[in-house]
Amino acid sequence: MPSFEESDPAPISPSPAPELPSSQVHPATVSPTKHQKENDQDDDDFIPENKTKDDDGDQKMIFDDDNEEPELKSSTSEIEKPSIIQQSKPSSSKSSSSTTTTTSTKYKPSSADMKHYYERYLPFKSIFLWLNHSPAPQTDFTMREFAFEYKSGAYHRYNSFSNVSEFKSTVLKAEPTRFEIGAVYPIEPKLRKQVSKNVMKPQMKEFVLDIDLTDYDDIRTCCSGTSICEKCWKFINIAIEIIDVALKNDFGFKHLLWVFSGRRGCHCWISDYRARVMDENIRRSVIEYLDVLHVKGSKKSNGGVASLNMFRKPYHPHIERSLEVLKDQFIDVVIREQDPWRHEDRYEDLARAVPDYRLTNALMKYWKTTTDRSSADKWLDVDKYYQNLKIQSFDLQDWKKEMIFKTMYPRLDVEVSRQMIHLLKSPFCVHPGTGNVCIPFDPSKEKFNPLTAPNLQTLFNEDEEHVENTSLQPSIDLFNKYVRELMKEELSKKRTRDESKENLEF
Ligand SMILES: [Zn+2]
Repeated sequence: MPSFEESDPAPISPSPAPELPSSQVHPATVSPTKHQKENDQDDDDFIPENKTKDDDGDQKMIFDDDNEEPELKSSTSEIEKPSIIQQSKPSSSKSSSSTTTTTSTKYKPSSADMKHYYERYLPFKSIFLWLNHSPAPQTDFTMREFAFEYKSGAYHRYNSFSNVSEFKSTVLKAEPTRFEIGAVYPIEPKLRKQVSKNVMKPQMKEFVLDIDLTDYDDIRTCCSGTSICEKCWKFINIAIEIIDVALKNDFGFKHLLWVFSGRRGCHCWISDYRARVMDENIRRSVIEYLDVLHVKGSKKSNGGVASLNMFRKPYHPHIERSLEVLKDQFIDVVIREQDPWRHEDRYEDLARAVPDYRLTNALMKYWKTTTDRSSADKWLDVDKYYQNLKIQSFDLQDWKKEMIFKTMYPRLDVEVSRQMIHLLKSPFCVHPGTGNVCIPFDPSKEKFNPLTAPNLQTLFNEDEEHVENTSLQPSIDLFNKYVRELMKEELSKKRTRDESKENLEF
């Protein structure tokens, strides 16, 4: 088999860091500017653009009127037994298989399952502490928006809670299929009708990232749509590796929480104070720095993605560093496992990505007359024809590096990260289509495997009453550690702020 090194023996030489383009923010400029940009969307009935394509792809209806809560169920005196527990022996879960493709249809939790899960398993207290940054309720939590999504597709925004017990009891009563976390507002979101609309501007929110495998459908051949397997999940693990180091090293963020989205992607929550107070302009700059492919909102070309403006020499250090990660895995993950250019409907992507029409035509002609040439063969054919035709219009090794980027570099949803008004599913919610729990994980410890992630079925089998006896507990422990570290920093900062305030008063 060919390797990157064989076909590209020239080492990537270190190059000086160029100036960042004006559209990209330098990490040092990400300072805590404490305000929010004027919101261009002030409609209560606003569905954030990307909500329509989130994990479920469901179009949501909004019931935003306080008097109109069709799904808000009254509490029942008799607690229904979860359907899973009622079963004598549940069907075996596919999630234990190591290579099976998983799809959205494997298991859908009933409302009784969800109620039981909320009552016994979901760590409300930990989520409260994470968002509140202190043991006693403060505005970081009480003025925070939560949204509920229901089985019918109804979506109820602007819920807010005074404390953790109200948070938990309201979720138990409402029985949403999931709840989402939004921004902190200047007043309690549930009181928004008492103030002018101008007041309801988001003040702060965690910086969030969303990576989804459907954005890789032009390169993955093992699965499509909502299906995933271990092969294509490697794209997500590679994305995590690249984004994690950039957020920490280039921007100095410390409190990163990676969370499985429950089906085909993951989210990253950055909870540093500095990140929470970024306005939308800074959020856009940070995400554009990371989103070098500009997949979303741009016309696709050349092998499925837009051309790379950042691919000018000398390469930006972020490009150099990312390339080191990508080139090591390109042969295995793309060429060998996905074999994306084997068939006629796809090899044109590779031929047309070559920036020389003579070479493109020669390759197309050759591949049309040969059958069943693998992507590895075709990758080497490009070398062979480049030499034979004595092509000089472009540098072959540079082009190969670009191709590696275009096929494997993280594909990000810019709007999810930019908009402060955008809500994102809370960690530990259950994906309504799969029953998977959206667990946090630590990519520095091990590569996450979505096929073995805790599922309501498996959890209830492990212990239907005590979460500490289930495979969910390690994820809760990890989350609690994350929350403790964040709170420790917040409390020491708050002390410093209070002391300096006292000094001023004195
Ligand atoms: Zn797959």
